[in-house]
Amino acid sequence: MKRRDFVRTTTAAAVAAVSTPISASARGPEVVVRRTITPLVISDVSGIRYRNGGAESAIERAFRGITEGEDVLDALIHGVNIPEQDPTETGIGYGGLPNADGVVQLDSCCMHGPRRWAGGVAGIEGVRTPSRVARAVAELTDHHLLAGEGAREFARALGFEVEADLNTPRSRELWLEWRRRVDPGHWLDPEARKRGLGERGEETDPDVIGRGGGDAVAMSPQALRRRADAWYRAGLDMVAEGLIPAHSFWGTINCDAIGPNGDICGVTTTSGLAWKIPGRIGDSPILGAGLYVDNDVGAAGSTGRGEANLYNLSSAMIVEFLRQGMHPKDAGMAILERIRANTVEPRLQNDDGEPAFDVRFFILNKAGEYAGVAMWGSNENAFAVCDENGAREEPLEGLLAR
Ligand code: ASP
Repeated sequence: MKRRDFVRTTTAAAVAAVSTPISASARGPEVVVRRTITPLVISDVSGIRYRNGGAESAIERAFRGITEGEDVLDALIHGVNIPEQDPTETGIGYGGLPNADGVVQLDSCCMHGPRRWAGGVAGIEGVRTPSRVARAVAELTDHHLLAGEGAREFARALGFEVEADLNTPRSRELWLEWRRRVDPGHWLDPEARKRGLGERGEETDPDVIGRGGGDAVAMSPQALRRRADAWYRAGLDMVAEGLIPAHSFWGTINCDAIGPNGDICGVTTTSGLAWKIPGRIGDSPILGAGLYVDNDVGAAGSTGRGEANLYNLSSAMIVEFLRQGMHPKDAGMAILERIRANTVEPRLQNDDGEPAFDVRFFILNKAGEYAGVAMWGSNENAFAVCDENGAREEPLEGLLAR
């Protein structure tokens, strides 16, 4: 079932809500009266469900800063520093789920609409708050993206604390559990050993459907697919068993805001895909993929399968759709349709041929209209909003319904 009750507005209408040109006389100067916009902060649920033991969530901290006159990007970064430093949020910053080697590698980028600043860090290790390093790249360098060791040494040179390891006992324990599931021959389960199980592999392999000469074995296409993404399935099993919250396996925070003057900024920060190949960079630090801001138009950012956003340059496309006059919800649905159309490989499809992954977008425009959309709608799929009516979760609109 598809949900396509799109809303249509025009960019002209959106802009009119921000500034109204008044001609003083036929020859007189044009006077622009700026109307105050109601500040608005949006993010995925990590922006409202984590407080790092404090009083405020990310969106509450950001909203407070913006209404107290703080620079919009600074307020957002102070906001996302909360889940970045929260050890219980296993998809972002400190305690984020590590890569396949057990190393936490973080990605982040930010954009400052009115100043036209942008900065990002990719695959940075040892710094709990990569969003702050991304901001430093934007503010202090001529560049937009630093990666790996260079990003870490840049942070060190600026006085950021660089730690040897950003794992928490919890993230390490989950990584060990994952290793045991994908490589049980090498990584033994102490509990199973105590029970006298799991020390030998199974003698018969249910995936083998025939055996040729030598070592060659024949496997069904389904079995080959199972083998190819065993690491991914092990992670999904851990989500299904409640060991990892779903929003942490693909955990990321994207947080975007519009301030009272219509200034628009955004930030995205993540530990990326759990158990990724070391060095894998997702969409989150890439301008136009995991985040894009145009101060004249709006902002879009994402969580979920980063490869889909890298391929489709989703956030930049959404902002272009906003520029053409689409409502944020329509713009989000349009990119979801494109991702869906570009998902042609069976390994990425479910049994109905639809994308077997989720990807979510958080979008606002210059008029303060906003939307949260997802490939898959469900009762649990929500995003976070904070405005003059307070912080709350609202349902994500799904292109496809489960
Ligand atoms: N988009 C991020 C990535 O692909 C992670 C996520 O949000 O799931 O690295």
